[in-house]
Amino acid sequence: MEDSVREFLEKLRKKAIVMTSAAESTLKEAGRKTSETFEIAKLNMKIFDLNSDIEHTYKKLGELVYSINKGREIQDEEVDSLISAIDTKKKEIEQYRERINLLKNTVICPLCQGCCSRDDRFCKKCGAEL
Ligand SMILES: [Zn+2]
Repeated sequence: MEDSVREFLEKLRKKAIVMTSAAESTLKEAGRKTSETFEIAKLNMKIFDLNSDIEHTYKKLGELVYSINKGREIQDEEVDSLISAIDTKKKEIEQYRERINLLKNTVICPLCQGCCSRDDRFCKKCGAEL
């Protein structure tokens, strides 16, 4: 085999390796994005359920207020437990929202405007320090 041909084939082989690893990292990135999107969707679903529960509890509180107005004796604990149930669920929602923010929080590269994760030290696209 001629040297020039061998050289050309060697270049081709190296390029193929570079392209393969680039494709692999793109796939990994896509996989990471997909699982993040899935987690965010799950968290939003939990928040939706908690909000439904809170609505339901508000309704019960309203019924209690109505009963009081109609002269029915109400135990303080009845009201307290409903209110603390609402507080607990609101705190839970807050935690899920924080998690969502964390998942969505990305850093934009100042050089190429590429989208990077907040814990990256260097840009995935251009290698600039973040
Ligand atoms: Zn960059």
